[in-house]
Amino acid sequence: MSGAWGSEWPFIIFALLVGGLLSTVFHQWTLGLWLCLLVYLLRHLFHINRLLEWLREGRPSELPRGSGLWEEVYYLIHRLQRRNKRRKKQLLRILEQFRTATAALPDATVVLGSQDQIDWFNHAAERLLGLRRNDVGHTISGLLRYPRFTHYLKHGDYTTTVDIPSPVSNHLQLEIRIVPYGEDLRLLIAHDVTQLHFMERVRSDFVANVSHELRTPLTVLKGYLETIAENNELPVSYTKIFQRMEEQTVRMQNLIDGLLSLTRLESSLQPVWQQTVDVPILLSLIIEELKVLYEKRPFLQLILESHAHVLGSEQELRSAFSNLIANAIKYCPTEGQIVILWRDEAEGARLDIQDTGPGIAPEHIPRLTERFYRVETEKGKSGFGLGLAIVKHVLARHSAELHIVSIVQQGSCFSACFPAKQVVRKIPCI
Ligand code: ADP
Repeated sequence: MSGAWGSEWPFIIFALLVGGLLSTVFHQWTLGLWLCLLVYLLRHLFHINRLLEWLREGRPSELPRGSGLWEEVYYLIHRLQRRNKRRKKQLLRILEQFRTATAALPDATVVLGSQDQIDWFNHAAERLLGLRRNDVGHTISGLLRYPRFTHYLKHGDYTTTVDIPSPVSNHLQLEIRIVPYGEDLRLLIAHDVTQLHFMERVRSDFVANVSHELRTPLTVLKGYLETIAENNELPVSYTKIFQRMEEQTVRMQNLIDGLLSLTRLESSLQPVWQQTVDVPILLSLIIEELKVLYEKRPFLQLILESHAHVLGSEQELRSAFSNLIANAIKYCPTEGQIVILWRDEAEGARLDIQDTGPGIAPEHIPRLTERFYRVETEKGKSGFGLGLAIVKHVLARHSAELHIVSIVQQGSCFSACFPAKQVVRKIPCI
């Protein structure tokens, strides 16, 4: 028997005794029994009533006192109450610590509700996003009115970020990231990238200026070297030296051209494309040009399964496709084979450039599109590692992606995948 029932027995015995006494006095044992039950019931009703009143008033500190079974009930409620109080204090402390930490964060942090409404924000959000206390409850898209941000908030891929100017000052550049958590809740984090943008602009301006300044002297030098190399009166040993010098100036010119196109691509804004590019014709032209340029080359096969055109810049796409095809020609042995395939996909269209070249080890693949990243190959390092960086930028400007699949000793496949919105299938007849 539990302790509670143990302490209840005296009351039961007392009620029975009173009942027995009354039965003897009135010579009616049923009356005694009823009276005893009534007394016992009244005691419990009294305590239930006290407990109800106490619960209704909600004054946790003044818990009623009881005896017998009720002493145990009150004690357990009291213990539960104390435990809850401790837990509440602990939770409040953690919440306070979290709020203090988030408030001290240098990045603007905004808690968004299921309807994109602002539920909470830290001090940095006041400074960087210009939020005020009375903005709580308002939708964030009403306060940050940038189409890029609205699109990101509604349909965006939250694994990426979006850059917008700060509503406080156009000089401040913010990188916005949304982190979903819980059910329908999201955390908006705005990081100040003004300095980073500034450094990036300084770097690209520097590269553009230096490249531009080097272009003229190099052209002059190349012109003189060509003239000297053509001079038949020069001794053969000198002719060779001048030819080497000419080759090196051509290399430098290619480097400068590559750097200038990359800087131009990086610094120009994403345009809204109006023109369509006839990809089948463009590919045929590029291949003809490259065939002339590379006399000794692997077998080239162009397969046009699609007639699709692409919305974009012919000049940029020509540069990207030429880079990919020229790479395949450069790195594939002459006895190898290159297949260039333009085809439709369920979502958009795709250009595959597949070669039977040396392939690329998996550890290099994620870094291939970095500026100046090169892999030592059997044929030597003929390029500067700018080609694929240019390809990546051009494709990104056309909302397309570059996929690289490669197996060492077997070959590589570089694919440019264009989304449906960029592909035009029905070309109007003129
Ligand atoms: P590069 O001017 O050196 O060719 P890219 O950016 O075009 O620069 O290519 C980067 C590196 O990727 C190259 O150094 C080369 O090692 C590797 N690469 C590119 N295309 C191929 C290919 N089709 N087969 C094997 N390696 C390739």
